[in-house]
Amino acid sequence: MHVPIVPYGGATSIEGHTLAPHGGVCIDMSSMKKIKSLHVEDMDVVVEPGVGWIELNEYLKPHGLFFPLDPGPGATIGGMCATRCSGSLAVRYGTMRDNVINLQVVLPDGDVVKTGSRARKSAAGYDLTRLIIGSEGTLGVITEVTLRLQKLPSRSVVAMCNFQTVKDAADVAIATMHSGIQVSRVELLDEVQIRAINMANGKSLPEVPTLMFEFIGTEAYALEQTLLVQKIAAEHHGSDFVFVEEPNAKEELWKIRKEALWAGFAMEPDRQAMITDVCVPLSRLAECISVSKQLLDASPLTCLVIAHAGDGNFHTFILFDPSQEEEQREAERLNHLMVHTALSMEGTCTGEHGVGTGKMKYLEKELGMESLRTMKRIKAALDPNNIMNPGKLIPPHVCI
Ligand SMILES: Cc1cc2nc3c(=O)[nH]c(=O)nc-3n(C[C@H](O)[C@H](O)[C@H](O)COP(=O)(O)OP(=O)(O)OC[C@H]3O[C@@H](n4cnc5c(N)ncnc54)[C@H](O)[C@@H]3O)c2cc1C
Repeated sequence: MHVPIVPYGGATSIEGHTLAPHGGVCIDMSSMKKIKSLHVEDMDVVVEPGVGWIELNEYLKPHGLFFPLDPGPGATIGGMCATRCSGSLAVRYGTMRDNVINLQVVLPDGDVVKTGSRARKSAAGYDLTRLIIGSEGTLGVITEVTLRLQKLPSRSVVAMCNFQTVKDAADVAIATMHSGIQVSRVELLDEVQIRAINMANGKSLPEVPTLMFEFIGTEAYALEQTLLVQKIAAEHHGSDFVFVEEPNAKEELWKIRKEALWAGFAMEPDRQAMITDVCVPLSRLAECISVSKQLLDASPLTCLVIAHAGDGNFHTFILFDPSQEEEQREAERLNHLMVHTALSMEGTCTGEHGVGTGKMKYLEKELGMESLRTMKRIKAALDPNNIMNPGKLIPPHVCI
């Protein structure tokens, strides 16, 4: 008998990744949380998959190092590899794809495979590390991960600026990237998201589209970048440009940003959120957000927009009552329209949350049937009995 296996990390994934539509055994990886070896001089660390990114960073802090991926609070390194996650710092440090050096994976036939060495780069054969990253538990169970680390910056500045429209805010994010300034974060929040943050945190931020930036480097360099972006913002109708350098104030601002989803529920506590995550080439971001925002603003549902704007990646939280069929249909309609808007601009149906069950239906349009058949051949070669997280990622109608 072939029993399905569903690996389970921090359970913060969003597209139904850890559901078990065919039943089976769920392997909870969250107890495998040893930090096996830290190599300060090589700036890498070997960990078990159940370690959370927040705990890892607490461990690394005294060594002056950090791991620069920040998905949902509670996410584990194994789940982060499996979803090819990113977050607010990806604009500077890349996604999980760029920050994993080596993996140990147990394949469905029981083979234990290492995908690389501890060298920072290698041209030794097929890139099995990147085959597993983003495979969402469908090819094997990740049991060990070697991660590339970064130096904690000596100085950082967090700046905020207000705009009249999301388009102006997105234009500034794009202009900042074009200016060559190496920002470490550029986050866009629409006026509804700011209202939610005010309600959930007792704040009184101006309820208008807002950009949040982080600049890092030496004291002089971080300040120089801040002032350059202040000038760019002023050229695009930005106002109330403020910046903070005090560590607790900066931490508080990023915490509020990270908890934005839960702030959304403070507006309408009885609602659920349908979350969509699309990504377009940077030059199309302003247009994509503007078109999407028109759709969202015309809907009777409350919709919040938040973007990792420097990467052309944005999310919408659509609040709906699941017991009301009409609201559910409306949320699905908006989700669908946003995905198709992004696809029509050479974008993707998911910049970082992954496919799970929720985004499977868009893959053929985005990638084409040949690409999906290739995925299915890889899946069939490694998992001929289809026991690893079945019913996810590859749409059921794909045949080889
Ligand atoms: C408030 C909030 C904010 C978020 N912000 C971001 C963001 O900024 N960027 C972003 O990219 N994502 C974000 N996410 C989504 C989520 O945090 C990421 O997808 C994260 O990488 C999931 O990690 P996890 O440990 O929770 O995985 P889980 O949800 O437990 O699992 C996800 C997938 O990985 C597989 N898996 C888990 N562990 C293993 C393993 N050891 N081996 C093989 N497969 C495994 C599972 O089978 C499943 O398919 C956010 C989520 C929330 C709730």
